[in-house]
Amino acid sequence: DDKILQVTNLKKHFVMGKGKMLQAVDDVSFYVNKGETFGLVGESGCGKSTIGRTIMGLYNKTDGDVVYDGDNVHSLTDKEKFKFYRKMQMIFQDPYASLNPRSTVSEVISEPMEVHSLYKNKKEQMDRVYQLLEEVGLNRDHANRYPHEFSGGQRQRIGIARALALNPDFIIADEPISALDVSVQAQVVNLLKELQTEKGLTFLFIAHDLSMVKQISDRIGVMYLGHMVELTESSSLYDNPLHPYTRALLSAIPIPDPDIEETRERIILEGELPSPINPPSGCVFRTRCPMAMEVCSVKQPDWQEVEQNHYVACHLYDETLGENETRRI
Ligand code: SF4
Ligand code: MG
Repeated sequence: DDKILQVTNLKKHFVMGKGKMLQAVDDVSFYVNKGETFGLVGESGCGKSTIGRTIMGLYNKTDGDVVYDGDNVHSLTDKEKFKFYRKMQMIFQDPYASLNPRSTVSEVISEPMEVHSLYKNKKEQMDRVYQLLEEVGLNRDHANRYPHEFSGGQRQRIGIARALALNPDFIIADEPISALDVSVQAQVVNLLKELQTEKGLTFLFIAHDLSMVKQISDRIGVMYLGHMVELTESSSLYDNPLHPYTRALLSAIPIPDPDIEETRERIILEGELPSPINPPSGCVFRTRCPMAMEVCSVKQPDWQEVEQNHYVACHLYDETLGENETRRI
């Protein structure tokens, strides 16, 4: 079995004031194969970061299961969880925010090693810091400088070196390139790919648009308002997107060829993203869906496998519906 991570019917609700409930993640299931990159995509507020944090056990779950390498993450004791963090690490969107500005680069990178007492002496630890700096495309002269002296892309490299410090198998990258210029984004993505090949890493790569995710992911799950709406291999998501939301996301990616750019259809989503405290009835996407039908407001679409390994939650693919239900509104 090569499924290293299995997320099953995961729910994460936050209790707000006045008895209100924020359904950040609602009944989400997916798995990640060892050595692959699984992309998790959706607008901000769709629950993708919450999934990442719940997988890491940083949040308790409301319901469902997260199983990593045979262990139920939410049943681990504190001691076991501490050990689990040697296997799973996280990279964040804004590395500067997660790096202590008063620490030198070498302190930032070696902190996890110290917390986990990885090395007996300073020399060994420092050698490892130098090695990590080189692995992420920096060099040992950077070790005694401060993170704020570096560009955004370099800071993300420092963040990656820190995440690699414990030699993890699995990395959750939560929008690691969203704050970077497009040219720098490509460099960081290439670095992650190289590291993946060298070290056999598995990635959960979280992003708010599909442009870079296409290049790095083997399979992709698309999220909307706490729900997974489509999941398939990267290539079939691009060649044959089934969910109207996925189609809209794809149509928003700029194409460098002006001839194609001119002729293709742009799907502009109307309206605001609804609040997850008060989600629409039926299909959560219906208030913005250009294809919405009568049934969409009364019935939540099932998660179904429409083609092999291609899952979607949308009534357009439900063959059991009657004529009245499928009337467009
Ligand atoms: Fe649109 Fe209905 Fe499909 Fe939801 S179920 S995406 S509203 S067509
Ligand atoms: Mg986020």
